[in-house]
Amino acid sequence: MIKKGIRRQIVMHYFIVVFSTLLLAEVIFLLAIRSYYYDSIYSHITNHVKQVEDYQKFSTTMNDGKDDLGSLLTVYKLSFTEMQILNVQGDVLINSSEFQPDESLKTSDISQAQSGNIGRWVGRQPNTGENVMAVSKMEQNNGQDAYIVRYVTSLERVNDKLFNVTMIATAVAAAVLALVLAFSLGLANSIVKPLNTITAVSAQMARGKFNIRIKGNYKYELGELASTLNYMAQEIIRSNQVKDDFISSISHELRTPLTSIKGWSETINSGGYDPEETKIGMEIITKETERLIGLVEEILDFSKLQQNEMKVSFARVDLKELLQEIMLNLWTKAEKRSIELRIDSVDKPIVEGDANRLKQVFLNLVDNAIKFSHENSAIDLIVTFEGNNVVVQVHDTGIGISEDHLVKVKDRFFQVDPLNGGTGLGLAISQQLVELHHGILLIQSELGVGTTIVVRLPRLLEDASPADAMELPKLPGASS
Ligand code: ADP
Repeated sequence: MIKKGIRRQIVMHYFIVVFSTLLLAEVIFLLAIRSYYYDSIYSHITNHVKQVEDYQKFSTTMNDGKDDLGSLLTVYKLSFTEMQILNVQGDVLINSSEFQPDESLKTSDISQAQSGNIGRWVGRQPNTGENVMAVSKMEQNNGQDAYIVRYVTSLERVNDKLFNVTMIATAVAAAVLALVLAFSLGLANSIVKPLNTITAVSAQMARGKFNIRIKGNYKYELGELASTLNYMAQEIIRSNQVKDDFISSISHELRTPLTSIKGWSETINSGGYDPEETKIGMEIITKETERLIGLVEEILDFSKLQQNEMKVSFARVDLKELLQEIMLNLWTKAEKRSIELRIDSVDKPIVEGDANRLKQVFLNLVDNAIKFSHENSAIDLIVTFEGNNVVVQVHDTGIGISEDHLVKVKDRFFQVDPLNGGTGLGLAISQQLVELHHGILLIQSELGVGTTIVVRLPRLLEDASPADAMELPKLPGASS
């Protein structure tokens, strides 16, 4: 007995469908064969019984109306068939066999003959129990019903043949059913076995074993399911790794300013320092606190972007003005390392966007450029038009990024050197913010030569209303 489940379902479905079809086909086939045989016998006897009419005419002229029933029997008897002549009431007058029933016959063929048709009856002989077919016809004399001619033939041989045909048909049906069972079992196994393996492996994954993989070359949907689960496990491992890296990098980032804040606050608290030193300590505490706030804000921004909850309000933004503002913001930082910030921009590079968010993007890009540039170098901000886009390039001649790292720098939390400071979120956030503005962010870099970050944003034409310029992305809570 097959256990409850898909295997049993498949086998049962196939079995029920094929079994009912075969049963129906066999019944129809056997009934057709039976009626073919019986009809052939009936039409053979009917053709014969019709000839008795000829004898009737001939005999009427020869014997002056008196039928010679004995010679009728001799002339018209049929081999393997008993011929009877009955009076109109159905009593046997003469019979081709020895046996003569005393009582009058009541079978349906006789009543049909009495009403003027050629009667047919199939049933068991009351005396022998043999299966027979009887065909009867009323004969007339001078327009009057005279007697009934009745042929009775045994159906035993025909029934034997029908039985043999039935046996062969049943054997064929059983063979077909066995084949179908074997085939459906094979089909069910080809689905159930991989499913069991996949279930067992996914149960292990659910218990946290993500290194395990579904092996085997499964086809079609099962193959897709297996590779999706394998991919899921791989992604879980990857995101766990990213999470661990993030926690360790964040802990490091938090620890440095916190240690400094703690050290200086303890020092100030213990007293005995001159006001100048206390002032320096307080400045460091403020700077480190600001750094901590920046870090936390960056993490919050990233989390909002991840959950599509970043609120943006769109307006006309002149990128030249925005970049000039950024240069002012970062001027001191750049000057400390003798880095020159230069801008070369077309007139009115207008885009539609959220000025604060775009500022965040370019602050991060220029800040990175300063962070990774050598002393006494220059950073160029180049703004051009390219078709219907405004293109901003932030170009530095700093340390550059190797080819291996270039593909990963836009990944969240990725840093070439975690000791450089930062969270590894800046480029990931910038990329998502640029995409929110229907733009793209590309990085071109060569290790030891320098880096150029290209931001391409749709241009807002002077005479176009903001809504004509581009279709804005639907953001939860965004206003334009
Ligand atoms: P972070 O906050 O750590 O700077 P980012 O996502 O902004 O994070 O940058 C990811 C990494 O990409 C940096 O740690 C750095 O290694 C590399 N990177 C970004 N900008 C530059 C650049 N202009 N020159 C060289 N390396 C860069």
